[in-house]
Amino acid sequence: MGDSGQVRPPIVLQSTITCPRCGAKKTETMPTDACVFVYECGACGGHFAPKRGHCCVFCSYGTVQCPPVQESSASRNEAVGGLGGAHD
Ligand SMILES: [Zn+2]
Repeated sequence: MGDSGQVRPPIVLQSTITCPRCGAKKTETMPTDACVFVYECGACGGHFAPKRGHCCVFCSYGTVQCPPVQESSASRNEAVGGLGGAHD
């Protein structure tokens, strides 16, 4: 209630990664201050790098994108919202 103006959507820190090789799923907690470049699957033992153009394995294989990406997409949404003038 007493916060200054801006309302941000909460950043999700848990992402469920699906192994691209064997399909095993695992929920991981993402670090907020670092990108994860290698995912090691506990089921098949494979190591996976992010897909091209993705900053980390959560963006490539996870259900939720990494915190920095969530923040940047949230601020992009803030810029929108000037719809509808009050003219008559
Ligand atoms: Zn696997």
